[in-house]
Amino acid sequence: MQRLKSFVPVSATQTVRSAAFVPIALVLALCSSTASAESARPRLTQTVDIQIPSLPIPVRIAGKKHLAYELHITNLRPVDVALTRIEVLDADRKSRLGEFSDAELDERLGRPGARPDLADKRVIGAGMRAVFYLWLALDEAGVPPGRLQHRIELDLIRPSGREHAIVEDGASAIRNEPAVVLDAPVRGGPWVALYEPRLVGGHRTSIYTLDGRARIPARFAIDWVKLDNDATHAHGDESRIANWHGYGAEVLAVADGTVAAAVDDMPEDATLPAGAPPAIALENASGNYVTLSLGKGRYAFYEHLKHGSIRVRAGERVKSGQVLALLGNSGSSSSGPHLHFHVSDANSDLAAEGLPYVFRSFQVVGAFETIDAYAKGVSWKSAQEAAGGMRKMELPAANTVVMFGSQ
Ligand SMILES: [Zn+2]
Repeated sequence: MQRLKSFVPVSATQTVRSAAFVPIALVLALCSSTASAESARPRLTQTVDIQIPSLPIPVRIAGKKHLAYELHITNLRPVDVALTRIEVLDADRKSRLGEFSDAELDERLGRPGARPDLADKRVIGAGMRAVFYLWLALDEAGVPPGRLQHRIELDLIRPSGREHAIVEDGASAIRNEPAVVLDAPVRGGPWVALYEPRLVGGHRTSIYTLDGRARIPARFAIDWVKLDNDATHAHGDESRIANWHGYGAEVLAVADGTVAAAVDDMPEDATLPAGAPPAIALENASGNYVTLSLGKGRYAFYEHLKHGSIRVRAGERVKSGQVLALLGNSGSSSSGPHLHFHVSDANSDLAAEGLPYVFRSFQVVGAFETIDAYAKGVSWKSAQEAAGGMRKMELPAANTVVMFGSQ
């Protein structure tokens, strides 16, 4: 009792009537906002939870190292939060790698699962989450950062008005390991490497929640479509899949490896659907596919293969360049015959995190301005305009038209 009493801040005018009363008086004094003695402690404001589910591995694209990853920003407080600015920092050099506000923040921000009538995607309601998709080109000459940090500016939208706050997360080490080096998945060309890092609903932003985790398996997926020299993808009636230049092309092992899966159970329609493509169950979306184990927990996926064309079986060892199957249009392949190719960290087409990869060599002969330009039939720019030439140990840039070595 004596010891407890010594903790009580008793003023000259206060009377402590009993020892049992002391702790209550103390608690009331500490909780009271009208306490006369102001604390010198810095004000604490709860804001958001920031997670990076998959730390980035640097990958070279068009001469620059890139980091592709996501910030999952969750509002666990009963107050709406409006994001206003996101900065990416090199945590060790204290330099800024990127800053995003207004339209640039908007176009990289996703609200997976949100209702379509969401008025402002920058406002994260109580209990809700936003995902910020980064595809960050680093300074050409610089060494990639060892650790990343993020400074997020936001407004807490209280009934009394907006309160500005800045939150910095803890430093996160990037995975400073080389991207897996691959040989060509197809021969010759020209082939267009279709992908769009910022396309909402595209591969890079498609999150799948399987086995209790949200993942992006096709973070670095490319849809390969074969063109001819006139930049068309089919001859004659393009609703007939056999008329596409790439249909039936040989699909090649990108490295020595072991076949982890070879599934060939899905027939294809001879023609593309006239209107909107029919809904396809998630388990059938990949169509006929081959998965190649490349070692070190890396797997290459070849999807939408031609029914009846798969030439390998699970467990079989294959050599780089070996024909695995033929390009087809099975599964969810609404854009027409193409090879969907990606690398991920598990032997599962959807329950895996997409990993970067580079091709040993390819020649850039042109580029489409955007994936939309390709879809609308706008012709591609020539190699001179599109920084063409031989590229080595790179991931092809979005929507470039390339030739691979052997014919
Ligand atoms: Zn695809």
